[in-house]
Amino acid sequence: MRTLGLLGGMSWESTIPYYRTINERVRDRLGGLRSAPLLLYSVDFAQIEALQHRGDWDAAGRVLAHAAQALERAGAQALVICTNTMHRVLPQIEPALGMPVLHIADATAERIRAAGFERVGLLGTRFTMEQDFYRGRLQRFGLTPLVPEQAQREIVHRVIYDELCRGQCLPQSRQAYRGIVADLVARGAQAIILGCTEIGLLIDASDSAVPLFDTATIHAEYAADWALAAPEPAQRPLRAL
Ligand code: GLU
Repeated sequence: MRTLGLLGGMSWESTIPYYRTINERVRDRLGGLRSAPLLLYSVDFAQIEALQHRGDWDAAGRVLAHAAQALERAGAQALVICTNTMHRVLPQIEPALGMPVLHIADATAERIRAAGFERVGLLGTRFTMEQDFYRGRLQRFGLTPLVPEQAQREIVHRVIYDELCRGQCLPQSRQAYRGIVADLVARGAQAIILGCTEIGLLIDASDSAVPLFDTATIHAEYAADWALAAPEPAQRPLRAL
């Protein structure tokens, strides 16, 4: 297996399921006590969040590029950025590395195309819902992303930072998300992207009339599959007695 480098802590609440999902996938494929060789660099999210909301993406990109380089020096062979939003600074991270970056939107878009959907609702932070770095990436795969109306986007964004990233899953927020999902479905969404790695902690399939695509789970499975894709070292031929 190849070694994954996880850039996590954004927030740490959503990095935990990555670790579990990757290891479960490896165990399910290889059996026994097999588990995934991986490295985790978990940042202080308060610093990243402050830079995001100040719009200082360059500084945030420098912090993450530095962390990604540390993972590579430590032996990681591919980078897994455990957040949708921070793929915003990929142009700063990618050139700083010799290893590939396994993109969360590519993993998700491939899965959605394979399921036969094209028009998809997108929930995430304001940055993910409104900026081109994410929507444009989905469009490259032939998807048409639909985002909630302005007031609903504010609710989705606020719940992520004020509740989910702090480990709080409140019934009234789940109810609000349910309504926002229903509106996207009424506007023609054939599926919904949980385009923030914490949203899967709040809602599940029972909250939606159409399939949900949880980016955290999909990304973790994609990363595990990448690690597993390396050929096992060839068995040494038994020496003739
Ligand atoms: N984890 C979230 C995401 O997937 C939001 C936190 C962040 O800003 O990184 O976008």
